[in-house]
Amino acid sequence: MAGDEFLKSIETNFSNAVAALNTTDNEERISSDLANQIMLANSTYVVRFGVRLRDTLTTFTGFRSVHSEHFEPVKGGIRYAPDVNQQEVEALAALMSYKCALVEVPFGGSKGGLIIDPRDWTSAELERITRRFTQELAKRDLIHPSQNVPAPDVGTGEREMAWMADEYKRLNPAEINAWACVTGKPVAKGGISGRAEATGRGVVYALRSFFDCPGDVTKSGLKPGLKGKRIIVQGLGNVGYHAAKILSEEDDALITHVMERDGAVVDESGINIETLRSHISSTGSVLGYSGYVESGLEMLESDADIIIPAAMELVITEENAKNIKAPLIIEAANGPVSAKADTILRDRGVIIIPDLYANAGGVTVSYFEWIKNLSRIRFGRMQRRADESRYGALIEGIEGITGKSFPDELASRAINGGAEIDLVRSGLEDTMRSTYDVISEVWNREKSAIDLRTAAMMVAVQRIAQGYQSIGI
Ligand code: GLU
Repeated sequence: MAGDEFLKSIETNFSNAVAALNTTDNEERISSDLANQIMLANSTYVVRFGVRLRDTLTTFTGFRSVHSEHFEPVKGGIRYAPDVNQQEVEALAALMSYKCALVEVPFGGSKGGLIIDPRDWTSAELERITRRFTQELAKRDLIHPSQNVPAPDVGTGEREMAWMADEYKRLNPAEINAWACVTGKPVAKGGISGRAEATGRGVVYALRSFFDCPGDVTKSGLKPGLKGKRIIVQGLGNVGYHAAKILSEEDDALITHVMERDGAVVDESGINIETLRSHISSTGSVLGYSGYVESGLEMLESDADIIIPAAMELVITEENAKNIKAPLIIEAANGPVSAKADTILRDRGVIIIPDLYANAGGVTVSYFEWIKNLSRIRFGRMQRRADESRYGALIEGIEGITGKSFPDELASRAINGGAEIDLVRSGLEDTMRSTYDVISEVWNREKSAIDLRTAAMMVAVQRIAQGYQSIGI
């Protein structure tokens, strides 16, 4: 079963990191019993609930796994997909623990899922199902502002998070922090500007950080700079869409291939992501778009500089790893490269920017949203006007003293920039850049850090282990 392989892959990555850490000069060794305690999910709750829809009682199965509670609340999305299973949810929950530790977001790891194909149901039906699922989770504090905070994942988005938050609020009308029980809500319902784009934008910041390290770029054999790089994007959902759009519009990269469920679009001169996205929204498919080709996963083997798998786990396995031509892969999805494929690709010199770092932008901005909900104030609300008037005065002064006018573009950059979206992007960029520096430093310093994934896992696992060790576990 794919869930088993995914969980095994994550456990292999974890064990490799522990082994690598134990060969470094670190004083603190991670014992095998502590490693085992960290590796396994602390608990997984399986719920079956019935909802009366279309005159029949349909039973749904959902999961919420808590991987590590070294920090609380635990955090992680809820996935709606037909093939959700316990092992998959446990693998994803583990990844959340490592991800949060790596980007220094003070949450433990969790993940949820519901076995459902959202396309089979109307919006009103999905709302009823989601509210019922929320009630089940709430009963066990598996949705709770200080215990367990879900977020969107594959098949869910702002709409589902708004329903969950609203249901939680109904169940807990006097809870002042009720809105902090989930993140990824619409801005009008306690969300934060920039959360929807956060994972995709984080992927872009990760790529920029990589390209800003000439030594690391040399290892990939790629020429410096993102400009003109030919990119394959697999999956144009929320993450893939934002990453592709920003890379083509802000970095002048060329999105040459977009792979979707029902085929692919290929254009060597660069696909216009906005137009393609509108085509998909209006027709429900890439079919009929110029450059459309009937194709499956083999499209990943096309000639390109970078692959961005942005959909599901295990799309690059030992079956196709040997045929991958791009020298750089950035994992926008969780677990798209299996542990076996990882070894094949590393031996072939392909560089992988790993999921626990590459897609951590989502949970980073979720953290900002949670803080916003707890503090009940929009970021920038107190200081924005004050900053504007201070910088305005400075510019006026400079103009008065020099007799010259301050360049408009610079003046507007100095005066503006304190709105919530600017602060969110700044916090996200800072997180992604500083985290890359830490990973790259370990990768280049430690012999046992054989690739970026091992380096990133070493940092994450060591932080979690220290958390346990400091309380005597
Ligand atoms: N589902 C996202 C992830 O896999 C976001 C999690 C969150 O924001 O809590 O990272």
